[in-house]
Amino acid sequence: MKQPIYLDYQATTPLAPEVFNAMVPWLRDNFGNPHSAHIMGRQAAAAVEAARDQVAAMMPSGGKVIFTGSATEAINLAFGAAWKPAKANGRERVCGLATEHAAVLDTLAYLEDACCSDRYDIPVGDDGLVELEKIESCLSNNDCSLLAAMLVNNEIGVRQPIEKISQISKKLGCYLLCDAVQGFGRIKIPNVVDMVAISGHKIHGPKGIGALWVRDGIELRPVIHGGGQEAGIRSGTLSPALCVGLGAAAKIASDQMEQDHYHVEELAKVAKRIFADWTINGSTDHRYAGNLNIRREGLDVSRLMSDVRSVAFSAGSACASGSGRPSHVLKALGLDDRQIKSSIRLGFGRYTTEDEIIEAARLINAAAEAQLA
Ligand code: PLP
Repeated sequence: MKQPIYLDYQATTPLAPEVFNAMVPWLRDNFGNPHSAHIMGRQAAAAVEAARDQVAAMMPSGGKVIFTGSATEAINLAFGAAWKPAKANGRERVCGLATEHAAVLDTLAYLEDACCSDRYDIPVGDDGLVELEKIESCLSNNDCSLLAAMLVNNEIGVRQPIEKISQISKKLGCYLLCDAVQGFGRIKIPNVVDMVAISGHKIHGPKGIGALWVRDGIELRPVIHGGGQEAGIRSGTLSPALCVGLGAAAKIASDQMEQDHYHVEELAKVAKRIFADWTINGSTDHRYAGNLNIRREGLDVSRLMSDVRSVAFSAGSACASGSGRPSHVLKALGLDDRQIKSSIRLGFGRYTTEDEIIEAARLINAAAEAQLA
């Protein structure tokens, strides 16, 4: 079967061939348990540690990398840092931006029940950027233990002003968790954050692995209990193949950051030109160029998607469209249900060609015109 043109890079990215090659020996021949004391175990452990260093090289200094099974798990783990302050000194509030991923918002909701008295979803403006004064007023009681703010939004590509957000969180004494899933490897991680969550499959690495970077001195609370791996914070046997894959993907992203950036910017220029009749959702200036979330008044996007099966793209976020719920991100921007249902997300990156963008746009525009005629 002919593969569709893939324009869903925010949902997942193709595995880089170099990453695949780096992983193969650890899947096929070197099957030792990295926690075993013998030579095969030590070799596997060395590969895991080399991968950890590759990931750490792209994080701020003064912290450690904990491997997890996904970014969702990394985010859940990060919230363990809110637990102790909530119990010990009454910092009983947890906060996040209203446009965070479900991995953050649903964990905030869980914590509200489990240990924190209150949670607050900080509103964004119609451009998707956080309103800094709202953070200030939300945190001003000095009762917040953790604030979550994402680097790049997975649905609309908007880049949040993490440095400015951190000035407020620092002043008011709470930890700042940065969900950098969509920005890691593309944008330098700001040095000012306390914790960073990332995911392998968003950076041309394998699925089934993520990581949490934690600044030294921050105490976490394990969410998975058992053999005490990952310094007792995340039990379970690590997969050397997945760790090596994430490390290789991080290294390639770091080496190619400028090249990838230029390529994506050029593709974005082409896409914006061809989709000139559409409205961009979210800020046009503060965004990652490889995400184009656009709408066309009166369009029925579910119909559009079934009319254009030879292009893989999304309506809102993959998660939101899977559940049938209107996107909470587009809602937070103030879009009504009709506008949300007429929005699509196109995501492109390292392996997308200009010809693919042009052909996809031709197909999507033709189907949209036919529908609106
Ligand atoms: N955060 C953001 C911004 C994401 O886009 C995603 C995945 O879509 C996640 C978190 C969850 O990542 P994972 O698939 O590794 O659990």
